[in-house]
Amino acid sequence: MYVQRCAVCDDPAEPFGALVCSRCRTIPEPVGDHVCEKCGKPLDGEGRLVCSDCAGASHSFDRGAAVFRYRSVSGGMFRFKYQGRAEYAEWYGAKMAERLLNGRNEAMERLRNADFIIPVPISSAKLLVRGYNQAALLARRVSQITGIPVREDILGRGNDTKPMKYMSVPERRQNLKKALIVYGNDVKSKVTMLIDDIYTTGATMDACAGVLKDAGAREVHFLTLAIGADVPDAGPEAADEETYAQRRENPADDQDVRI
Ligand SMILES: [Zn+2]
Ligand SMILES: [Zn+2]
Repeated sequence: MYVQRCAVCDDPAEPFGALVCSRCRTIPEPVGDHVCEKCGKPLDGEGRLVCSDCAGASHSFDRGAAVFRYRSVSGGMFRFKYQGRAEYAEWYGAKMAERLLNGRNEAMERLRNADFIIPVPISSAKLLVRGYNQAALLARRVSQITGIPVREDILGRGNDTKPMKYMSVPERRQNLKKALIVYGNDVKSKVTMLIDDIYTTGATMDACAGVLKDAGAREVHFLTLAIGADVPDAGPEAADEETYAQRRENPADDQDVRI
């Protein structure tokens, strides 16, 4: 018999038919209502409208939102992305759809107006190794619940020609943007919503939003499952989501990581 694993702790989910076990349902911490009005990061200080990152940078995307604080769900997300637990998308995607349908702020209203959803692409080399694009799994599930169509044929990513490890932040951004390809002209004048598993510094979202805008998209918003904390000056080591997530192999032992 097929056993559904809990998307939080990976034990068999109980009762039968559940997607997370009852004790884990409240572990992932929602970002809440006090969020950066640009990227959707939770703001812990009173009275601020944008996070420290958005205060000092201009982004190519319009608005963003996320469901959970990354630290509270990092173990499950690591298994989802790197250890074949594609099944977690069912619960994760449902939580994203729930946030999208119930969110009351202006950003959520704009996201709900999206003409279509575009998953953040991974390269074909990565797809071959992983067997699936985790962002596409989430996008399909969100689409299934909300009725907003998903388009997987618009944005593609070529294989990286150079290792990004030794590049500066601007070099990485440039390299990322060069690897992205927009097919056809269906995004012209459209409101689009990118979907990915995580948002940290925005490097990936900015690159994707940049090429979609260049192709004529009117608005580019994003929705992610998780988002990093607002940390002033996170430093170049947090420059791209992929490197960041790979270091998080054992999140429980790493309480001091900066996102
Ligand atoms: Zn559990
Ligand atoms: Zn922000």
